[in-house]
Amino acid sequence: MSRRQIAMVMDLNKCIGCQTCTTACKTQWTNRDGREYMYWNNVETHPGNGYPSRWEESGGGGFDDAGNLKPGRIPDLHRDYGAPFELNYDEALGCVTVDKHSSSSDNERPELKPVVPPVNGPNWDEDQGAGEYPNNYYFYLPRICNHCTNPACLAACPRQAIYKREEDGIVLIDQERCRGYQHCIAACPYKKIYFNPVTKKSEKCIFCYPRIEQGLATACAQQCVGRIRFIGYLDDVDGPIHKLVEKWKVALPLHAEYNTQPNVYYVPPLSPPKYDAQGRITGERRIPDAFLIGLLGPRVPEVLKLLEQEREKKRRGKESELMDLLIAYRHEEMFKLDADYYRKPGAPQPPAAAAAPPPGGRSRRVIPIVAFNKKESLEDKLDNLEVAAGNYAGETT
Ligand code: SF4
Ligand code: SF4
Repeated sequence: MSRRQIAMVMDLNKCIGCQTCTTACKTQWTNRDGREYMYWNNVETHPGNGYPSRWEESGGGGFDDAGNLKPGRIPDLHRDYGAPFELNYDEALGCVTVDKHSSSSDNERPELKPVVPPVNGPNWDEDQGAGEYPNNYYFYLPRICNHCTNPACLAACPRQAIYKREEDGIVLIDQERCRGYQHCIAACPYKKIYFNPVTKKSEKCIFCYPRIEQGLATACAQQCVGRIRFIGYLDDVDGPIHKLVEKWKVALPLHAEYNTQPNVYYVPPLSPPKYDAQGRITGERRIPDAFLIGLLGPRVPEVLKLLEQEREKKRRGKESELMDLLIAYRHEEMFKLDADYYRKPGAPQPPAAAAAPPPGGRSRRVIPIVAFNKKESLEDKLDNLEVAAGNYAGETT
């Protein structure tokens, strides 16, 4: 059990599917060899197949109600993730040798297209959704590792390479101990661990912990255009996470029935009302409650009702702490972090000290905070982090 648990709340009413978060994460962490296909943060359209494809239907993993690990599947690179494709840049954009004797059409460049026609990919079914016009519907579901309180990935690892940080509950993979058996990938019901075919180790979202330790939000949250992401500690009663999860109880875990106790929570999406056959607005929401209940559990209807009530109050000019929170007038108020906490005794130490065996004996290899030049700005320091999950050649025993 961790001393504290960091968590994220995402308000699905505000996500516009712009993928800025995906790009922020990709450029920060997974733009190197073996990670081309990985999206530690992805944003998928629901109803839809998601990424990897059909992870909810056929992925397996998690725990049964008796607490036993359930069998799970390792997604296939081509079928489920969709291998990143190469484009025919040379043909389409390179030099063309003009043959004076041939017809002009022979000298035209081919169109720019994938060398091998792709059969799947992230967001293959983006914006398709379900339902018939004018009552069709969809919404976006951004997903990261849930940094679960009861992580199936950790339980499945025979090498004990996966650990949950005592200070904040972030789940990490010790790259020194990992042997790439991929039991964690099968066991994670959310399919949020990826195999790196170059390093032959598993990798996953690290909740941007070098940023968190500096009191900064994760890259995905900091860059979020829709301001949908809140970050803080569950036990901080003054923070937005506690207020949304525990006080107002409007943020719900995704697929709680997987029994991993996820620490990413979602405010369910309200949807526009349906039209009847005569084109009149009805009182029925377009996204069926049953669909949302399948994702976020049985409390969805009461949460949607509460959101509607509070929204109505706000419309009438009355006070609503909940609406003010969710509107998030100031982006910085969405994050309640605590850099000082990490500097207190018992908190993570600088790299040299981190090499010492932790209490319990087993040494672990963490992704380091590099030694900073004090004259650098914080932005420079973060830009210069020579780290990415999986490629740190630091201290270990
Ligand atoms: Fe592990 Fe999956 Fe939970 Fe992340 S979401 S902690 S990878 S079980
Ligand atoms: Fe949604 Fe924010 Fe990501 Fe855009 S950046 S897709 S609004 S979570």
